[in-house]
Amino acid sequence: MAAPEQAQQILMDDLRSQLKGELITAEDPGYDEARQVFFKGIDRRPLAVARVASADDVARVVTTARESELELAVRSGGHSRAGYGTSEGGLVIDLSGMKELEIDAGNKTAWIETGITAGEYTVATGERGLVTGLGDTGSVGIGGITLAGGIGFLVRKNGLTIDDLLAADVVTADGEVVRVSEESEPDLFWAIRGGENNFGIATRFQLRLHEISEIVGGMLILPATPEAITGFVEAAQDAPEGLSAIGNVMLAPPMPFIPEAAHGKPVLMGLFAYVGPVDQGEAVIAPFRALGEPYADMVRPIRYPALYEGEGPEPRFASGTNFFADSLEPAAAEAILDQLPQSSAPMKAIQLRVLGGALARVRNDATAFAHRDRGLFVNVAAMYMDAGEKNTHDAWVNDLANSLGKDGAGGYVGFLGEEDEETLRAAYPGGTWERLRGLKRRYDPDNLFRLNHNVPPADG
Ligand SMILES: Cc1cc2nc3c(=O)[nH]c(=O)nc-3n(C[C@H](O)[C@H](O)[C@H](O)COP(=O)(O)OP(=O)(O)OC[C@H]3O[C@@H](n4cnc5c(N)ncnc54)[C@H](O)[C@@H]3O)c2cc1C
Repeated sequence: MAAPEQAQQILMDDLRSQLKGELITAEDPGYDEARQVFFKGIDRRPLAVARVASADDVARVVTTARESELELAVRSGGHSRAGYGTSEGGLVIDLSGMKELEIDAGNKTAWIETGITAGEYTVATGERGLVTGLGDTGSVGIGGITLAGGIGFLVRKNGLTIDDLLAADVVTADGEVVRVSEESEPDLFWAIRGGENNFGIATRFQLRLHEISEIVGGMLILPATPEAITGFVEAAQDAPEGLSAIGNVMLAPPMPFIPEAAHGKPVLMGLFAYVGPVDQGEAVIAPFRALGEPYADMVRPIRYPALYEGEGPEPRFASGTNFFADSLEPAAAEAILDQLPQSSAPMKAIQLRVLGGALARVRNDATAFAHRDRGLFVNVAAMYMDAGEKNTHDAWVNDLANSLGKDGAGGYVGFLGEEDEETLRAAYPGGTWERLRGLKRRYDPDNLFRLNHNVPPADG
């Protein structure tokens, strides 16, 4: 019998020979690059990274992982805070080479492979004056954000990304490629809309496109006072549904468009997308401009894809927690401002996203994302460079979230890290968790897809 290392070598050679894409192991020159994810401090050494080129490739790797009992990681854009897009000693399916995009402008739909990023997709469809709402960051993968739900720049106008998901091709744990939609495998279709990769690997999505070209949008930076913070949330709740707004309370970074005197001071960085008559944009944004003397005001008529221009920070690690709420009390705004400067993280932010609108018109139990009755999403994050600081930053985000009223409230899986079962259960409220567990038993009884915010199969 071959020694374990030899046996693995034979297994990998065999897998390599079956793939249309590439299989990269530690001996290959591109290995260090291939094992990297967005949070570069996550330093795991997979047995192999399969840069897959087709659904058949995905199915082959799934079969190999299942038969050899190797851990299986799945990666699209690699932004998982927990590093679920890589593995120590296991197999990684890297979809980032699968970026095919077919736009059906007449029917306003697109079929896309799931390795494309939010920015790449939006630039390509935006050229035709058509877009689908994704998140606020261009480098995030379509695969991960869609399966989590997708809260972004069009959340009040058009709902979540999953509200525009019409169908998907999914490779299941037994290596089958299945088309899922409202008509075909409706339970699986329900589960993947918020259930992340617990049920399979999506290789293609069919997404609805909306005719949106010019919007009023961009960034407004205000001094952060308790009144400005609560006023921002109220103004966003009162605004027409065409406006989606994200408020980030943070210490001002030393950016050239922020006056030097404000650097390091608490600011409220608002990000806006107003879809509606451009000449009404002024009036829609006016209540936000009235919240203080802006340090910077870049809100203007722009083409929608311009929202994804520019690059964000590239931290090595992030601590974070999040929860859904309905409103933000003045005491919470004060707590944010008290506790923000206490964190030693080089970058930290409290993000407030006002919900409602189209998101809230879908029933809570219509998808595995089940927080549609909540009016506000609160995300607390601290980004840092040194692994040894993890406990300090975890404690800060959790203490702050609790003082903002988190208190066991459920969160959004897209922004969660490695979590205990109680947190995951709360992320799937009502009957969602038990329904997901039942479907997990049906579609992945051996929990092959377990490197994720895991939904354990229901007991037999
Ligand atoms: C800087 C930053 C900004 C963000 N902004 C937003 C935002 O505005 N709105 C929002 O909703 N979320 C946002 N997120 C959260 C983000 O949507 C999730 O972390 C998402 O899971 C990342 O997807 P990915 O493909 O880039 O990451 P990956 O690490 O590749 O994947 C994340 C998870 O999804 C699984 N997965 C990925 N692709 C597939 C696939 N094709 N089939 C099956 N499973 C798959 C992975 O196995 C993993 O468990 C942000 C995250 C970061 C780091």
